[in-house]
Amino acid sequence: MQTTFSLAQLADPQIYTAENILRACVHCGFCTATCPTYVLLGDELDSPRGRIYLIKDMLEHERPATRDVVKHIDRCLSCLACMTTCPSGVHYMHLVDHAREHIEKTYKRPLFDRAIRALLARVLTDPALFRLAAVAGRIAKPRAPLLRALGLKRMAAMLQLTPSRRLAPPTERTGKVHAALGARRGRVALLSGCIAPVLAPATNEAAIRILNRHGIEVVVAANEACCGSLVHHMGREEQALAQARNNIDAWMREIEGEGIDAILITVSGCGTTIKDYGFMLRTDPVYAAKAARISVLAKDVSEYLSTLNLQAVAPPARLTVAYHSACSLQHGQNVTREPKELLSKFGFVVKDVPEGHLCCGSAGTYNILQPAIAGRLRDRKIANIEGLAPDVIAAGNIGCITQISGGTAIPVVHTVELLDWATGGPVPGPLAELADQEPTAVSVE
Ligand code: SF4
Ligand code: SF4
Repeated sequence: MQTTFSLAQLADPQIYTAENILRACVHCGFCTATCPTYVLLGDELDSPRGRIYLIKDMLEHERPATRDVVKHIDRCLSCLACMTTCPSGVHYMHLVDHAREHIEKTYKRPLFDRAIRALLARVLTDPALFRLAAVAGRIAKPRAPLLRALGLKRMAAMLQLTPSRRLAPPTERTGKVHAALGARRGRVALLSGCIAPVLAPATNEAAIRILNRHGIEVVVAANEACCGSLVHHMGREEQALAQARNNIDAWMREIEGEGIDAILITVSGCGTTIKDYGFMLRTDPVYAAKAARISVLAKDVSEYLSTLNLQAVAPPARLTVAYHSACSLQHGQNVTREPKELLSKFGFVVKDVPEGHLCCGSAGTYNILQPAIAGRLRDRKIANIEGLAPDVIAAGNIGCITQISGGTAIPVVHTVELLDWATGGPVPGPLAELADQEPTAVSVE
């Protein structure tokens, strides 16, 4: 794609990067076929190619974002299916991240929009506040249909996503070391994060158990917190970078202290952002090198587990698992093989979900901010999953787990919970009734 940025514009490193991305696009349109919003809405401006044109025009002319541009960029899920499809290697993620930041700086959203975004940015990134909000949301949840009827669709969507069950008590884990059982073979840091420890503390507990059982010491670094992913995708770059720097400092203290072999993440949306810290902070003279180091160490938990010789202890009954490949894992991190291979190795019958490249509609705060599109994507995803008649659905991202479990009676668990179970851990909570079944012997190479 030809561009007409001036030399003065190109002196800005962000514009320089954007120009390189834009020039890689050859307008072929292959990406439109796998873009969920184009598939649903059929509008070129809701396709990757259309959005690329809108962003190019906005940046080249140094225009403030218009209402129309904001509409089409806001509809983008940042699912990155377009990056997997693109034959020219267009780095759409960095381009749309830049566009969202530009929108945040130049466009004044309507008052209610600003209020709900500020609320999400504040509450979702703070586990204590989020816990309070989740408790209040559970009480107010029966009012969701009334809010929807009054036109307050985003508030209704927020309540709808609130878990109906009581939350498990808080497990304060930052600053804790979980010692390896037996001889220590390695030492890793595990991201605790912000939403996952409130909604699904069982996930990290399972990760810690399986790692400890296989000789890996796990530290949850003191002062680590939200990775910045949620606000990064809302264009709130200052807040995102501050959160990134905080976690880099926390992990650098471990690196320079006892040392760590990897930084493990059980929420793939967070993992994609942490793997991008090196890029996000590339122009920061104090943090650039440290951020690059952290990004190299960052691994999805399934990537790391696949390097260990995991041992089956009490293999569970042969269950059919529909493996939902989270967009952030398959498109954002190119981790597709490891979770399925690990599950198969321990006797689970793993089935791919048809249209697996299409997002479930979760996408960070998307299912709150764009509830209509998110709802259509969720229903389509669940129909594809239920067609497989699985015993259980496995995924590697709390956002997908929450989104999918809100629309089906089939239990949804994190992949690591199944692996923990297969290697001697407890049965995952949603599968409790299966605990009494006779295990099937599985031979693990
Ligand atoms: S990130 Fe997803 S929704 Fe956005 S343009 Fe690419 S494929 Fe479409
Ligand atoms: S597939 Fe890649 S090169 Fe083709 S239009 Fe889409 S982004 Fe551009």
